[in-house]
Amino acid sequence: MICKICNNQLANKPLLTITKPDRFEEYIGVDSDNFKRTWHKCSMCSVVQAIHYDDRDRKLEQIADNYFKIDFGDTTSKNRFDKIMSLPDENSDNFYRVQRIKEFFSKWIVNFHSKSSHTILDIGGGLGVFLAKFLKLNPEFSGVMIEPDKNSTAHIDETYPFEFHSALFCGQDEFKRNFDIICLNKVVEHIEKPHQLLTDIQKALNTTSGLLYIEIPDELNIYHKSASDNSLGSLHHHLYNVQSLNYLLENTGYNVLQIARILEPSGKISIYAFATIKSVINKWLSA
Ligand SMILES: [Zn+2]
Repeated sequence: MICKICNNQLANKPLLTITKPDRFEEYIGVDSDNFKRTWHKCSMCSVVQAIHYDDRDRKLEQIADNYFKIDFGDTTSKNRFDKIMSLPDENSDNFYRVQRIKEFFSKWIVNFHSKSSHTILDIGGGLGVFLAKFLKLNPEFSGVMIEPDKNSTAHIDETYPFEFHSALFCGQDEFKRNFDIICLNKVVEHIEKPHQLLTDIQKALNTTSGLLYIEIPDELNIYHKSASDNSLGSLHHHLYNVQSLNYLLENTGYNVLQIARILEPSGKISIYAFATIKSVINKWLSA
């Protein structure tokens, strides 16, 4: 078994064996007798990777258009958006995420002769809750969101405070706009080999001061959550720790500025990092 992050061998012995299919695996009709999905650690980069059996990962890819429907049935995306938007600040993962990025950015940007208005690109922005909250608290920013799942974005129209594209990000020319911040919030774990995405993002980042913010589920979920926890579900390819996320970023052309573990109000255990590209590091250190 090969690690999809660093191409070395994964440990044969699993850290965890899941024996009950989750809702997505049930949807593709797996037989729950003798079912298993296993999580294995890479001894080189330290990532934890999911192994599916009987080609189930390929079948799961084919239902990508139905994820929102499987999760929320007839609930509309507008209802979900309103519900999550109205969470009190102390219960809102998004509120703390906005604060984290705002604080880091405000200290970072003083290192550069920067304009007073800024731009943020949210890749895989889901319902749009994060970006809506971010723009409300940071009015000097204008925002762009890209999200391919039409079911989770049906409510987004011209009344929303950001530019929206129903698309999958792959470094398209229209997004090469020198963004000050690019966010990947709980996106990378859904991608089997995230290297190309991370490389493509560099084409859209501000070459003087651009920041990548990335947030993903923590490996600690394996040891501290039940086997049915969402973080260990069939749609996640990897769980990271500080070492493995650092490895992935440094090996795709970034320098990490800050990386840490957090326990979010929702109970999710996550890792986040701020990173930038080499050209920005040169400008930062010579400014
Ligand atoms: Zn590895």
